[in-house]
Amino acid sequence: MSLIPTMNIGVVGHVDHGKTTLVQALTGQWTARHSEELKKSMTIKLGYANGYISYCRDLEPPEAYGTSTVCPNGEKAEILKSVSYIDAPGHEILMATMLAGSVLMDAALLVIAANEPCPQPQTQEHLAALEIIGLNQLIVVQNKVDTVDKEQAKKNYKQIVDFISTTRFSKAPIIPVSALHKVNIDVLALAMYKLFKEPERILGKPGLMLIARSFDVNPPGTPPERLVGGVVGGGVIRGEIDIDDEIEIKPGVRIEEKGGKVRYEPLVTRVVSIKYGDIAVDKARPGGLVAIGTTLDPSLTKADRMRGNVLGHNVPDPVNSLVIEYRLFEKIAGIKGYEKMEPIKSREPIIITIGTMVGMGIVTKATSDMLEVTMREPVVVYQDRATVAISRNIKGRWRLAGWGYVKA
Ligand code: GDP
Ligand code: MG
Repeated sequence: MSLIPTMNIGVVGHVDHGKTTLVQALTGQWTARHSEELKKSMTIKLGYANGYISYCRDLEPPEAYGTSTVCPNGEKAEILKSVSYIDAPGHEILMATMLAGSVLMDAALLVIAANEPCPQPQTQEHLAALEIIGLNQLIVVQNKVDTVDKEQAKKNYKQIVDFISTTRFSKAPIIPVSALHKVNIDVLALAMYKLFKEPERILGKPGLMLIARSFDVNPPGTPPERLVGGVVGGGVIRGEIDIDDEIEIKPGVRIEEKGGKVRYEPLVTRVVSIKYGDIAVDKARPGGLVAIGTTLDPSLTKADRMRGNVLGHNVPDPVNSLVIEYRLFEKIAGIKGYEKMEPIKSREPIIITIGTMVGMGIVTKATSDMLEVTMREPVVVYQDRATVAISRNIKGRWRLAGWGYVKA
């Protein structure tokens, strides 16, 4: 079994319900690495970490299943699956970041804390986002069971059952765990192994990748002759990208011309390294989160500047206007209680998420099932009938309001 991750598992749910703690229990890694994140102890950017589902033949299930490469008796565990976890921020103001990550998820863990009534606003809003992207592999993780008594755990379990029964995930298993104390992680590992299947992949060239993060990996003060080129991270959604390939990145860099006019210039670069976590390889494929080293000036990729771009061999040209076949939710997601959704009107500003790109647009025409939108910045429609998420400013905040497909 390969150590290279073959699928992406999203970890979603309301803020503070234990997503980052669960990823740590599953991988040994704390995904919030940025000083601002540690200070606020809140996930701000998309976090990711690679992990395993492993098996120890001397033990009975579920204990036989786990996430470590070594068994309790010191022997090597059999690696059953290698995966990437995408740790989504759960705070309401970071919904756009969650949406940008959701397109890369092949399956998801919805984390729900047992010590709060269910559903909390972003429990609901994140689940709605998973429905939009057409995800159909979900496990609900009832977390923090160490903080409640049996009665409270049962009551919360019933609320979870009622909540998911109204969604397409009504049959999803609900697994009680304590991420902090690593209780029942074996049962969760077993469930992921049995239930999460790798989707069918399109291999061969051309390759196409959605960029979720980008970095300047040079420590401050690196002399120019030792500088390493810009690094972009994300998921290959089809095809393959090899070392030494020439690739395009679109829309590319934003250039402000004299007089304030803005244009985007596509980038052309060469792949110099490919890494899944710490594992260097010579080919990037769909499944797992990958980091691609390029010959780009690292200042172009620092601090997530390339997030939302599309990388590949034949990237479609960016466009400024979109025609979207769409539907709105009946009620407003992400707030407590029921509030009816008003129709979208012409000239309304909206936020469109397409792939990992999140962009502001103005509605130029709206019917009950079709929108014409002029985007403030160009976007790449990376495939036919690409899914878009539509967010609207409702009650002073951008909320997920509906979804649609880009019409050819
Ligand atoms: P996130 O916002 O969903 O990523 O939540 P975090 O993983 O940052 O966890 C929020 C807080 O809940 C932290 O103080 C964790 O230590 C705590 N926490 C997470 N999981 C558990 C658990 O299973 N039991 C208990 N008692 N606390 C937990
Ligand atoms: Mg977190």
